[in-house]
Amino acid sequence: MVKNIVVIGAGVAGLTTALLLSKKSDYNIVVAAKHMPGDYDIEYASPWAGANYMPVSISGTDAAEWDKNTWGPLEDLARNHPGAGVHFQECEIHNRAKDVGSATANWFKELLSSNPWFARVVPNFRSLPKESLGPGIDSATVFTSVCINTAIYLPWLVSQCLSNGVIFKRGVFDHILDAAASGIHPNGRVDLVVNCTGLMVSKLGGVQDTSVVPARGQIVIVRNDSGKMLDMSGTDDGDEEACYVMTRAAGGGTILGGSYQKGNWESQPDPNLAIRIMKRAVKMCPALTNGKGIEHLDIIRHGVGLRPVREGGTRIEKERIGGVFVVHNYGAGGAGYQSSYGCAQAAVDLIDQAWNAQAKL
Ligand code: FAD
Repeated sequence: MVKNIVVIGAGVAGLTTALLLSKKSDYNIVVAAKHMPGDYDIEYASPWAGANYMPVSISGTDAAEWDKNTWGPLEDLARNHPGAGVHFQECEIHNRAKDVGSATANWFKELLSSNPWFARVVPNFRSLPKESLGPGIDSATVFTSVCINTAIYLPWLVSQCLSNGVIFKRGVFDHILDAAASGIHPNGRVDLVVNCTGLMVSKLGGVQDTSVVPARGQIVIVRNDSGKMLDMSGTDDGDEEACYVMTRAAGGGTILGGSYQKGNWESQPDPNLAIRIMKRAVKMCPALTNGKGIEHLDIIRHGVGLRPVREGGTRIEKERIGGVFVVHNYGAGGAGYQSSYGCAQAAVDLIDQAWNAQAKL
């Protein structure tokens, strides 16, 4: 029998899960969410992401497995589906010995390794010769990554889902069981709810996972082209600040970042932080302004997004709440895109299993 599913959330987690589910004939799917692609809001992380594939997950963990399983689909999009707004871009990781032990360097531990697990996944992974490095850089690696234009990619995911019969509607739920109430699914009965509510799961009745907290990321989007992606192991401006640049596919501009301010919900850009972000970016990547100052950056907009960071990592689990099957896929932190297909597939596997469990009850 075909099952009726409601996916709460239209960020990259909800859309990717809905897309993979919609490829099966077993499910009738509704995606219901407060925010949809096209919206820009502090409660909606996905539009603000760079977004690139730059794994920070540790070898041997579920997170590394999800990241590994996502490279293939992203590579396929970049190679074979230009309409998705994903392109290949070289990604350079610069490492400064003085950052060892800092918050960013700890977060980037695997990324900064000269032999990380993903060296055997992404193409062209190699270390750069010491003599080619700029002042203050002690080592660097480079590999072929992808950069996703989220303004194209999120609507593309919606469009793929629509083509497969997924229904989209706005919905704001105080409690997770509200998504199983009558009137949400056109077929009446709801057999399973998929919870992809990101950061706001911390306030969703029935779940209220307060171990999910924001890691605030401030960015500046400019028209200048960086030519490649660059990332630094730390900054001289404190533990909560980061330095990276990436140019989005298909005219999406270049993202200059950033920050990683844990527990900070502030939605408005801090102008002083924006200046520091731009100064660090042009220093790390002189190609942005032909070696000139930040006044030669052509700003499209300033932005702030909140990464949904969960203690213990992304939650992909199934449980019964008030008699309703629920599968969770939330809390990807700064890795929602680079783990998207791996996480969504893991959630789909649990959804498939839920019916077997039900049959045994
Ligand atoms: P969200 O995108 O926040 O979506 C949550 C959805 O749930 C929304 O539709 C919302 O409306 C809905 N919702 C929530 N509560 C309710 C409710 N009660 N009722 C109805 N609907 C509800 N990741 C990468 O992989 N690579 C990167 O380069 C990268 N760069 C980043 C840079 C920045 C500055 C930021 C902020 C993030 C970055 N990330 C990156 C992380 C990535 O953006 C997130 O991990 C990802 O977007 C989380 O997606 P999500 O679908 O879980 O949540």
